[in-house]
Parts: sequence; C-alpha cells; structure tokens
Amino acid sequence: MACEKLRAALPGKVSLADEASYNSSVNSYYFRSARQRPSCVVSPTSTEDLSTAIKVLTGHPEVQFAVRSGGHQPHPEVSNTDHGITINLGGLNTITKSIDNDDVYRVGVGAGWINVYEVLDRVKRTALGSRESTVGVGGFITGGGLSYFAPERGFACDYVVNMEVVLASGEIIEVNDKSHPDLFWALKGGRSNFGIVTRIDITTFQLESFWGGATMYPWDAEDAALEAFIRLKMSGDYEPLAQVELSFLYSVQMGGFLVSANHWYLRPVENPQAFRHFAEIEPQMANTMRIDSTINFARELTKYQPQNKCATFVTTTFFINASIMKKINKIWEASAKELSSVQDITSVITYQQCPPPPKDSENAMGFAPQSSPHEDLLIFIVSVYWERQEDSDFVRDKIVGLMADIEGTTKQEGVFHPFKYINYAAPWQQSLKSYGEESYRKLNEVSRTYDPHGVFQSQAIGFKL
Ligand SMILES: Cc1cc2nc3c(=O)[nH]c(=O)nc-3n(C[C@H](O)[C@H](O)[C@H](O)COP(=O)(O)OP(=O)(O)OC[C@H]3O[C@@H](n4cnc5c(N)ncnc54)[C@H](O)[C@@H]3O)c2cc1C
Repeated sequence: MACEKLRAALPGKVSLADEASYNSSVNSYYFRSARQRPSCVVSPTSTEDLSTAIKVLTGHPEVQFAVRSGGHQPHPEVSNTDHGITINLGGLNTITKSIDNDDVYRVGVGAGWINVYEVLDRVKRTALGSRESTVGVGGFITGGGLSYFAPERGFACDYVVNMEVVLASGEIIEVNDKSHPDLFWALKGGRSNFGIVTRIDITTFQLESFWGGATMYPWDAEDAALEAFIRLKMSGDYEPLAQVELSFLYSVQMGGFLVSANHWYLRPVENPQAFRHFAEIEPQMANTMRIDSTINFARELTKYQPQNKCATFVTTTFFINASIMKKINKIWEASAKELSSVQDITSVITYQQCPPPPKDSENAMGFAPQSSPHEDLLIFIVSVYWERQEDSDFVRDKIVGLMADIEGTTKQEGVFHPFKYINYAAPWQQSLKSYGEESYRKLNEVSRTYDPHGVFQSQAIGFKL
C-alpha cells in the first residue's frame, strides 16, 4: 500500500522486489549481512523527492523504514530492512565547490569518499573522510568520522560547516552554527534520529601528499608491535601528525594469526621518527610505506578489506596503560580460536587513538573542548567476517561474550571508558547513551523539537535514542 503510494508520487524512483534496480540496491550493501529485502526501495534523485517520500511514509505510521547512504554498516535492520521500506540515498551524490568559500565543498550524502577524493585530488586538496575509499559520506559523518587527519584535526563531523536536512514534516532546512545550532550539534554523532541529511558542506584543505602505508608482520611480532604502539602513545609528548591503526588478525585463509599496522604521518616526510619502533620490527611480510596522496592511501585500504561477507563490528574505549592491551590480546586470541570452526572466519582487533575534542564548536559525542581524549584514550574495534548466514547467531553470541570479557577486564584495571563510537558499534551497545547523561538528554530534547511525533524514533530503524 505505502509502496504503491510512493510509486505514484515518485514515478520511476520506487522499485519492487526482483526489479533490476531493487536487486542492484540490495546487492550493493558492502556486507551480505546487511542485504535485507524490503517491500520496496525508494531512490530519490533530489532533496524534494526525499521530502515527498517522507510525507507519504508519515501517512503510514505502521510502516518502518531504513535510511541508507553508502551501505557500509554491517548489521541487519539498520540501513536496510526485511520488515519495511528502504530509502537509498545513493542518487544524492553530486559534489560541487561552494561559490562563497574556496575551502568548502558541498557533498551529496550518497557519494562515496572515493568520489570526494577524486574531485579534491585534481586540485591538490583533501578532506577529513573515510580512510577506506568506498565508505558513504552520510553514515560516516553523522556517526562522527575517523579520518587520516583525526589526530591533528579531530572527528570529521567537526569539519562540517552546514548540512541540508529533510525533517519528519517533509520540510527542507539548512542547518549550521547559526541556523538550528542545536540540530547541527545533534547531527554530529547522532545519525538518523532527527531527520535525514541530504547534503553536507565540508571544509577541505590543501595537501597533496603525506607519508603512510602498511606493514605486516608474522605472529612472533605480537609483543614487539604492542610495545611499539605503547611507546608511541605513552612517550609523554602527544604527536598530532602520527596515526597508527594497529591490528591483530586471525584468518584461516591467511594461515592463522598475523600482525598489521597502518601508519600515516600527515606531512610528506620520509621515515618519521614517530614510527621508528615499528620500522625496527623484523621480519616484515609486507611494507608499503611511501609518500602518496589521500586517494591512493584510501584505494590501498580497499584492497585489503573483506567484503561480500557476513560481518559484525563491536567497539569499546579505554585509557591506555602498559598492560591492558596485552591482556585484551590474550582474551581475543582465545575467542578467535573458538571461532576457528566457522567457515572462512576472519577475526580482527584494531587499536587506534581517540581524536582531540572540537575546538570551536561541539559535537554530540560528549568530549568537552577542554578535555584531552587524544592523549590517553584508545578506540578499540572487533570486526569479524564469515561466509555462511547460518553461522551468524553463533558468531554474534561469541562476540557479545568477547566484549563482555574485554570490558570486564578494562573495568577491573580501572581503565574503562563508556564511549562507544557509533560507526564501530553493534546495535545492542547503546552507543548514543554512551555519549554521557547530559549529551543524551540534549539529544532527546532535539529529537522532540524537530520531530515532535517521534517519526525517527518509531518508524525509522537504526541506532535509536
Ligand atoms: C570497509 C570499511 C572501512 C571503514 N573505514 C572507516 C574509517 O576509516 N573511519 C571511520 O570512522 N569509520 C569507518 N568505517 C565505518 C563507517 O564509518 C560506518 O560503517 C558508516 O556508518 C558507514 O557509512 P555509510 O553511509 O556507508 O553507511 P550506511 O550503512 O548507509 O549508514 C550507516 C548508518 O547511518 C545512517 N545514515 C546513513 N545516511 C544517513 C543520512 N544521510 N542521514 C541520516 N542518517 C544516515 C543509516 O541509517 C545507518 O544507521 C568503515 C567501514 C567499512 C565497512
């Protein structure tokens, strides 16, 4: 019924099961675990189309809907659904330079970061976007966004100057520091709880190249790699130009346990001192360190990402100390072995530093401007990939248990921090609550102001307040 009305209101932009455009939308999700089959897919090609769709949908409060930009989050029933309608924003993907400000680019939420980097690369500029090339702009920014430049500049949402938003009423508004500042704040971390973002105006900057790449080591290097990370993070001097994503992998296909480090030093400087302890670890199974552009680093990461698999992400945050990472590694190793019977399993843990707080504005994630999360907090993600849908319950149960053990240990050690980065979180982790009581209260207030009938709480699915 709602699909028929949408089809009548938006001819050629609503596809039903098994039409070619429906199948291509379902199959375009990065992970198989998110390839649900909605009753129809709405594919707006303008903000006005989306406004029309929202007006039709709010006339059917019994119908749930999902909102999708790049389709990279891995969980079922978040940016796609088996129980309602999916709005696929992939068609809102234009990228243009602002006419008022040379640094600002206006980006449709359906663009992938690769598209943004392509445009910026031509003019030797870059932006705070995903480190992997194909992630979508909409989900990444409304979830915060950890970019190459995070240690120096903070979350990517802090580099946004304006957002165009469709509210539950269908009204289209521009949201920024001056116009609807409360909503602007909420959308920086609060995802689809207040409206649907259609265009994001981002600040870009000149930078042609910087140092970075990946090193990979055999499992014997586990202790040395942990030591190198701890020495970098605990040297006493915060190094805003150096970022390391340190991962430990278990993959049956790759022959068992491995260590990998992605490093980026945000200037074109060869072999910076900051990474010397990683450079000294031998033997290295791979080493791609070089001076290169944002777009090439992003393409490199895409080559190594498992896709077309079932997947789950789960996250926690803790204060770094010398022993906690070693304890977490041991807990994860035991869990990875327990999963070894699952077909084509890959289990990965990654440690990375929390970015500095925003300087001139605030986001919803709860870090005050005067706080220093970048100096002592680590954001930790477990990402697990597997082949068969029928193994999903088993894997997800094990991962819930793994995270309970890890958080039990960080609490015991007195290093637990409640923050759960939403772009890495599982739906059961109550990420929005983890931003702190005051932030959560304000998020609810903003939701009541802009969506008084609670459409984005009761009809829209995803990570809700
Ligand atoms: C291979 C890979 C690499 C990654 N690399 C990074 C990285 O470098 N840094 C990082 O921080 N994260 C990274 N992530 C995590 C990524 O940021 C999140 O999965 C993000 O949510 C993906 O955005 P999307 O638009 O592609 O996702 P989608 O699945 O389309 O959306 C994710 C969520 O955002 C909501 N949403 C989407 N668009 C809108 C909108 N326009 N308005 C309101 N709500 C919206 C959806 O409803 C859904 O809840 C990576 C993920 C993958 C799979």
